[in-house]
Amino acid sequence: MAFISVENLTTRYNTSKGLVYALEDVNFAIEKGESIGIAGESACGKSTLGLSIIRMISNGKIYSGNVQFDGKSLLDIPDADFDKNIRWKEISMVFQGAMNSLDPVFSIQQQFEEVLKQHNFEGNMKKIIHDSLTSVNLDSSVLKKFPHELSGGMKQRVVIAMALILKPKFVIADEPTTALDVLIQAQIVNLFKQLKKDGQSFMVISHDLAVLSEVAEKIGIMYGGKMIEFGNSSEIFLEPKHPYTKGLLESIPVLSKDTKPKYIPGTPPNLINPTEGCMFYDRCPEAMDKCKKDPPKINTKSGYVLCWLYE
Ligand code: SF4
Repeated sequence: MAFISVENLTTRYNTSKGLVYALEDVNFAIEKGESIGIAGESACGKSTLGLSIIRMISNGKIYSGNVQFDGKSLLDIPDADFDKNIRWKEISMVFQGAMNSLDPVFSIQQQFEEVLKQHNFEGNMKKIIHDSLTSVNLDSSVLKKFPHELSGGMKQRVVIAMALILKPKFVIADEPTTALDVLIQAQIVNLFKQLKKDGQSFMVISHDLAVLSEVAEKIGIMYGGKMIEFGNSSEIFLEPKHPYTKGLLESIPVLSKDTKPKYIPGTPPNLINPTEGCMFYDRCPEAMDKCKKDPPKINTKSGYVLCWLYE
């Protein structure tokens, strides 16, 4: 049985403008010890996927689907049990904008203690905080400091340490390198690689495919609330199938080649009134007549790809 298996996961938000079809029929599975990278443009459903797995959807709800995690059916667990036994203890999250998620008026130590109190930790606080900081290559000197006294990279390490503190089996990291300069990004990527070597499984959500190629064995590409391609990292990067995945990869500059990066014309689809057919129809260079009306079905025979070209 897969370590995590997501089947037909569908989450929608209620807004004053209507229902937002943020996540539609998403499927993937990874084995124990594997990590998955989730890529795609802004508002394609990447963060909603992470928030749905950890059951922190606000202004909306999970409409249907199934999430199997380490033998448990996550969506069937009552709220109180999920709060007490799953969230942070088994699955935790490094939230998007983590650089701003530390409270400026409390010391780092107070913020670690708050996390532990909220999760009814009864062991040796000092030791577990120290161990957690060590795992992200920080020492206990940061504990007396306030967030403004730390560099961007140190703040990001602190929030990763907070996500790791109860030794969850799976950590969802939403844009962990966004807003960091390239040198600090490299430090954070190396940190993920080191944690992976120590056996930690992740879902890393990022628009930066280069980051994902470094830390994940499996890659899921999202577009318009759907996972349009999923597979081994090497297959996705070397033999992409879906026209959107190809477009994403062609938009990355390659210094060693004399070719200019291409861009994908058009804008992301409206998720309030989604089209009947393929969500990528308006922007797809290979679109066919049938793509306009009929939504493509997942083809799992030649990998996992949601496109009529692979019927
Ligand atoms: Fe393009 Fe059609 Fe495939 Fe959609 S289903 S990605 S429009 S070829």
